[in-house]
Amino acid sequence: MHDVTQKLLDHVVKVDPHQPEFIQAVTSFLASIDNLVDDLPQIVYHKVLDRLVEPERVIMFRVPWIDDDGQLQINRGYRIQMNSAIGPYKGGLRLHPSVNLSILKFLAFEQTFKNSLTGLAMGGGKGGSDFNPKGKSDNEVMRFCQSFMTELSRHIGEDTDVPAGDIGVGGREIGYLYGQYRRMNNKSVGILTGKGPSFGGSYIRPEATGYGLVYLSAAILESKGKSFEGKTCLVSGSGNVAQYTVEKLLHMGAKVATLSDSSGVLIDESGIDEKKLAYVKTLKNVRRGRIAEYAQQFKEAVYIPHNGSEDSNPLWEVKADYAFPCATQNEINLKDAQHLVANGVQLVGEGANMPSTLEADAFFKESGILHVPGKASNAGGVAVSGLEMAQNSQRLQWTPQQVDQQLQQIMKNIFVSINSAAEKYSTKDNYVDGANIAGFLKVSEAMIAQGYV
Ligand code: GLU
Repeated sequence: MHDVTQKLLDHVVKVDPHQPEFIQAVTSFLASIDNLVDDLPQIVYHKVLDRLVEPERVIMFRVPWIDDDGQLQINRGYRIQMNSAIGPYKGGLRLHPSVNLSILKFLAFEQTFKNSLTGLAMGGGKGGSDFNPKGKSDNEVMRFCQSFMTELSRHIGEDTDVPAGDIGVGGREIGYLYGQYRRMNNKSVGILTGKGPSFGGSYIRPEATGYGLVYLSAAILESKGKSFEGKTCLVSGSGNVAQYTVEKLLHMGAKVATLSDSSGVLIDESGIDEKKLAYVKTLKNVRRGRIAEYAQQFKEAVYIPHNGSEDSNPLWEVKADYAFPCATQNEINLKDAQHLVANGVQLVGEGANMPSTLEADAFFKESGILHVPGKASNAGGVAVSGLEMAQNSQRLQWTPQQVDQQLQQIMKNIFVSINSAAEKYSTKDNYVDGANIAGFLKVSEAMIAQGYV
């Protein structure tokens, strides 16, 4: 590693030793930027990297709410306003018991470069709470969201910071959060994205992350003379990103063999078709059930309990052509990566944020597999959030076809920019470096132009 990047990494480890996910994200990013340091001395002169690893602002707050038994519950809320050099802070809210400062800082850091890659004017942010929506009633979720927004409201704004969904935050939560903001401020403005289409939401926003992942992967495969037709794909997760990844893979003629949730893995070698996907959508989005139920409904499927504590994940042992981790960070470790490569998987497209550990990343690089990092491949979600902001500013609503067309164009543009950055500054097909570098260059230019802020 270059002296400059090594020193900075040592500093990050020294000041935040208890933030392993943030350190991981910074390590991976700096490894890609290493090659640029000597060629672009202005980055060092203006201390761009040093500024990037320090959030512009971190907001932490108490979230008191009353449960259905009338008991007061307290959770911790956060908003990381990471970088606003290219536009208002933008990024999701995550509700999950694992949420802490390390996880949100890593997500906000990644978001900064992801948003830059979309070509839209959005800075990086992230937020959420350690509140666990699992098993909570609709009314409990509503009371939590109202309390969360009561504090968050003073920190956000359509030109300041525009949150959206992430794990544990979908249409239901965004609706409750938006309602509370509107009531408190007596204003109907686009302060959140992922809203319902009846109150300013964009069509295709729920589909966008999964669809975008498949569009970008298709562009990469096409450049290699390959396609999805007749290919077997592995998808992990079963939430919004996984569901619409499966949907678009089916549109493209692929076969999908797996899904999962935090309790286990579902393997359906006969293929998850449209009908089974519709079952999954109702199971997860309406009944809020567990993926284990799928195997009771469709007897050809196998369910394997797995909670992540095991040393490898059986989902990544299924023989396939392409793999799409759409669950959460660090879901693919070195062993999993070895299984994927040994089984002949040729492309790993990340629907989740940072789903591969540093060791898995290094193994993918060594093996020469096509590896598309989340900050590029899952950027379709936030890209359509950007389009939702544009529609809100115009007080217009575009048709699903108009939005989908723009999403496809944005994903094609991302392919061109990560591909050419890889060729120019790193090695051909190294999309990890390509995404980090292409995302970084725009943010860096904006930061230098605006002086020391
Ligand atoms: N949470 C999503 C992401 O990781 C979407 C954020 C947004 O739409 O603002 O990019």
